[in-house]
Amino acid sequence: MVPDGVRRIRVVYLDHVARLSGGELALLRTLPPLLDRVEAIVVLAEDGPLAERLRAIGVEVIALPLADDVRDVRRAGAPTAALSPRTLWRLLRYIEATARLLRRLDADLVHTNSLKAAIYGGLAGRLARVPVVWHVRDRIADDYLPRPAVLLVRLASRLLPTAVVANSQATLATLRPRRRSAVVASPVVPDSVVPSHGVLQRGSGGFTVGVVGRLAEWKGQHVFLDAFAQVFAGSPARAWLVGSAMFGEEAYEQRLRDQVVSLGIDEQVDFRGFREDVDAELAEMDVVVHCSVLPEPFGQVVIEAMSAGRPVIASAEGGPAEVVTDGVDGLLVPPRDPALLAAALRRLFEDPGLRQRLAVAGRETALGYSPERTAEGLMAVYRQVLGR
Ligand code: UDP
Repeated sequence: MVPDGVRRIRVVYLDHVARLSGGELALLRTLPPLLDRVEAIVVLAEDGPLAERLRAIGVEVIALPLADDVRDVRRAGAPTAALSPRTLWRLLRYIEATARLLRRLDADLVHTNSLKAAIYGGLAGRLARVPVVWHVRDRIADDYLPRPAVLLVRLASRLLPTAVVANSQATLATLRPRRRSAVVASPVVPDSVVPSHGVLQRGSGGFTVGVVGRLAEWKGQHVFLDAFAQVFAGSPARAWLVGSAMFGEEAYEQRLRDQVVSLGIDEQVDFRGFREDVDAELAEMDVVVHCSVLPEPFGQVVIEAMSAGRPVIASAEGGPAEVVTDGVDGLLVPPRDPALLAAALRRLFEDPGLRQRLAVAGRETALGYSPERTAEGLMAVYRQVLGR
């Protein structure tokens, strides 16, 4: 607790998204243990369910809407599209408005929670003379962002933030910041950690393999479907895809739907759509697969599955490779290879004892990813930045 008379650090969190995407859920899970040390104000550039969820945990939320054409510049189009004179003008006005708001709120610190917020929030923080902490949750790499965006973000990382927080070593390595930097892992909510007797207990349906994550090509659901078909086509086993196309990935969803038909597994695959209660979905799964075809920056769903007492198979790169120890608390497979993923699936299907061992150890690993630990990591950065 903060002693009487000592003002908590006033941190203004900036995010351009108010949908319940991974980074936004991570913020929602990170704030509760910070609230007795930090006066948190979240400024969102759109209205959406995140605002309501934050208010429900007692966080002040301010809507500062950003024009749709600026906010929704797609990754593939950035930053050339951002440079049309009209968009640029709107962006500049938004930066100015954000700087004014930071001054009015008397912020001690700005914490940006998304890549676009890192740019406009970084500039606004500089204008308002408030130190900025970038929380980077995306890999700043050519396979994920267009080259000009990579160069822009790397350059900006040297000029705008006082400190950079990354969600994994893998993410940090793509940015190579010259500023103070730290790796702070995203937390898993303690309520979702199953009691030890709940490990591998589940509903009554047939053997079920699940993938949780928004439908996006780089998340690799197509690789999973190929692998699933190799092992289970024509059997009673089921596949659940939990998640929806969130950022204009509807064409990919259609391709997945066509793929299950052409693989002859349409009767076995359930497109569950976006689910608020992911734990209830995980409770129905025997094995959870995470097979992103680009290195996953962090991969909260991997730890969520482990905390739910499910054995996981993940691509052996990026964040999940920092979390999972192959053969101990999960299986790691070479990425982008349906045949090797199929072999791992077959191995787990045929060996309930291995599933049990991995699930028990995975749950132990997940216990280390508490919101308190994340809060401690962030507080250490805040203190350094503010010289306290
Ligand atoms: N998620 C959810 N409902 C869904 C699919 C995903 O709430 O239908 C959540 C999931 O539980 C996880 C987050 O979305 O907490 C995704 O985070 P992750 O780091 O795995 O990926 P990102 O979306 O940030 O790339």
